[in-house]
Amino acid sequence: MSNYSNYATKICKEFKEIQKEFVEDYELDSYEEWYYDEETTLLTFKNLEKSTELNFKYIPIGSYSRSSKTWSWAWDNRDNLHENKLQTLVVRKFGETENYSELTNGYFEADEFIGWELTAITYDLIDAIGAYRIVNDDNLEIYFLIIEEIDNDFVEDFKTENKTKTAKRIDCEKHGKSRGAFICQHLNKIDKVGFEESFETEIGMDLYVDDDISAWCSKCEEVRLRDNGWNDENMEIANIKIVCEACYFEIKEINKK
Ligand SMILES: [Zn+2]
Ligand SMILES: [Zn+2]
Repeated sequence: MSNYSNYATKICKEFKEIQKEFVEDYELDSYEEWYYDEETTLLTFKNLEKSTELNFKYIPIGSYSRSSKTWSWAWDNRDNLHENKLQTLVVRKFGETENYSELTNGYFEADEFIGWELTAITYDLIDAIGAYRIVNDDNLEIYFLIIEEIDNDFVEDFKTENKTKTAKRIDCEKHGKSRGAFICQHLNKIDKVGFEESFETEIGMDLYVDDDISAWCSKCEEVRLRDNGWNDENMEIANIKIVCEACYFEIKEINKK
């Protein structure tokens, strides 16, 4: 067996137990209705008889098409709306280190077991309480990583906050709808020009509504330090522009090499 198969088999075995407990603890089988909302990042379960509701914050992992027998990672899917999908890039990174092509190829042919397998691996690498799968009318299996339960008292606040975040998203040609990030005009995807950030960042990280990810080059940093901070003049040199968050981290990666 290849390294990957060994690893996947072990992880799947562990995950099976965890997932079983998760489903039992929340009595997920007792709910008749479920739906998910990309804007709010909530997966909702409804028990119509008891009129109870259960909400979870989720991250999209990916989907498996039963018709084309292909797997598609959420991070590779332009149609996937929110930045939470970027958190699954942790999995790709792990795949790069270990040389597991299943974790680094965005889209590939696979058998019916791939969905739970990759879900188990994602669960192993990202903090979560369980996972869930939905099969839609197009024979598409959609896999969700369940991050936490959102208490019924806070659901409305949670929805409002996430809708505000959605409104601020920009549409990148390469990556689709994403959170925006700010960079100086000198940063680009080819040259190493230094990378100074306003605060330590991580892809897909949680941000307050008013917090923005931003970075500038070494030259801009020099000027900024000389002037004791940003002012109208050095802001003109920086000429800050907005890029999508995925692009931002591609640029960061280039400058770290
Ligand atoms: Zn600059
Ligand atoms: Zn982009």
